[in-house]
Amino acid sequence: MIMLVKQILHNKGSEIFTAHGDATLVQAARQLTQRGVGALIVRDDMGKLAGILSERDIMRAIAENGSDALAQSVKTYMTVKVKTCTEQNSVEELMDMMTHGRFRHVPVLDEANQLCGLISIGDVVKTRIAETLNEAQSLREYISATG
Ligand code: AMP
Repeated sequence: MIMLVKQILHNKGSEIFTAHGDATLVQAARQLTQRGVGALIVRDDMGKLAGILSERDIMRAIAENGSDALAQSVKTYMTVKVKTCTEQNSVEELMDMMTHGRFRHVPVLDEANQLCGLISIGDVVKTRIAETLNEAQSLREYISATG
């Protein structure tokens, strides 16, 4: 059975943690820590996807500008060209996207191009493990039924 993004969102919900583009990196870091997530979505005034800021961007900011960077804005360091998926993408397609793009978060857009969720590499790994365990169980049942 092919698992789709739709099923992951159904299980985990469509909550998206966001940061304002004008917030500072310290505020973003606090939010990442409080929420226990690795990335925040930045929306424009219309609520559309404007960028993504991950903990790695904060690390890069500090590496480039030292602790002064922490007072700078999220929009200075966020990634603007964000790769997205739809609810119809498969989990395998997401794994490919993350592996080739070297990122661990993919926002999900609905038919109206509105944000409807965020998938992390943790969600993908959890789903793949569940799929693999199910396949192994089915094979064991098949073997014991036919053997
Ligand atoms: P991550 O592995 O998700 O922590 O992100 C690593 C880098 O890729 C950071 O610079 C992020 O801003 C960027 N990034 C994260 N998710 C995406 C995405 N879906 N599309 C493009 N870049 C992304």
